[in-house]
Amino acid sequence: MGKLKKIGVLTSGGDAPGMNAAVRAVVRTAIYYDIEIVGVFQGFDGLISAKFIDLDSRSVSNIINRGGTILKTARSEKFKTKEGRKIAHKNLLDQGIEALVVIGGDGSFTGARIFEQEFNFPCIGIPGTIDNDIYGTDFTIGFDTAVNTVIEAVDKIRDTASSHDRFFFIEVMGRDSGYIALHSGIACGAEKIMIPELEGEFESLVETLKEGTKRKKTSNIVIVAEGDQEGGAYEIAKKTRIEFPEFDVKVTVLGHTQRGGSPTCSDRVMATRMGVKAVECLMLNRSNVMVGIVNNHIVTCSLLDAIKQHPSLNPELLNVALIAST
Ligand code: ADP
Repeated sequence: MGKLKKIGVLTSGGDAPGMNAAVRAVVRTAIYYDIEIVGVFQGFDGLISAKFIDLDSRSVSNIINRGGTILKTARSEKFKTKEGRKIAHKNLLDQGIEALVVIGGDGSFTGARIFEQEFNFPCIGIPGTIDNDIYGTDFTIGFDTAVNTVIEAVDKIRDTASSHDRFFFIEVMGRDSGYIALHSGIACGAEKIMIPELEGEFESLVETLKEGTKRKKTSNIVIVAEGDQEGGAYEIAKKTRIEFPEFDVKVTVLGHTQRGGSPTCSDRVMATRMGVKAVECLMLNRSNVMVGIVNNHIVTCSLLDAIKQHPSLNPELLNVALIAST
């Protein structure tokens, strides 16, 4: 391929704070290197319905601080079909777009990888998901903001929990991954953290609570990842009420608050670094990879590895959580 003339950018799958910062960086980098840049609305759906918009430097003014994504995001069933992807490919060629930056999670990377293989169309991924569950990067865009949202809420709940001697189960996002629960639980001094990766946690919770009672603890905060193996915060609360009828047990589900809000400094800087790197990779004919950050260095990893491999929870963090809560 000669000099890259025109690229596209889209956000796909679940939104995450900091996606806008990544879009902005992609746009500004393209312009810096004299490459035309086109935004695609609503993820892969926008490729199929040809929702394109020419972007310039001003199009991305004042968005670095905004949560959500100005390009909107979507889950596209049509893109999962060969027919849908054929239309997407034709629309991209009609626009003169030569490569695509896909900001999203592993589902979006699966779509991007299939698309690149089918049509030999260069795609590069930027990890945007609050779950931090993507292999090949220490952090994903949105995770830091989400955990900060959680700790702000939990700190408030702790005030009322201790005033009323109450026991709170706080459910956070993480269907398959305990990253948000583990990090926010450590940061909030939770008495117990329950995550999908660990089995037999209810028995361990009962032990923790008994120990706490011996030490005359009157309030407790337990952080529960939504996908934990005991069935979520409401289910665990039900079982706890049976085991400890003397406790005043409450449940708070933080839900979608974790997906919104102004991105933290860390998410903005990381998203910007990833956006710059993604365009620079495409200029060097490097595609079919995801940009990541490892030990504070910007790196790339194949889309296949990013999709197929799973990051394992850091055992040191699990140990820290255990020791600090005793
Ligand atoms: P995330 O990117 O946050 O993991 P999803 O799993 O919903 O979110 O994936 C986002 C989109 O990626 C899907 O709606 C679909 O358009 C596309 N995608 C996911 N899996 C495939 C696949 N096997 N083939 C083609 N496209 C896919």
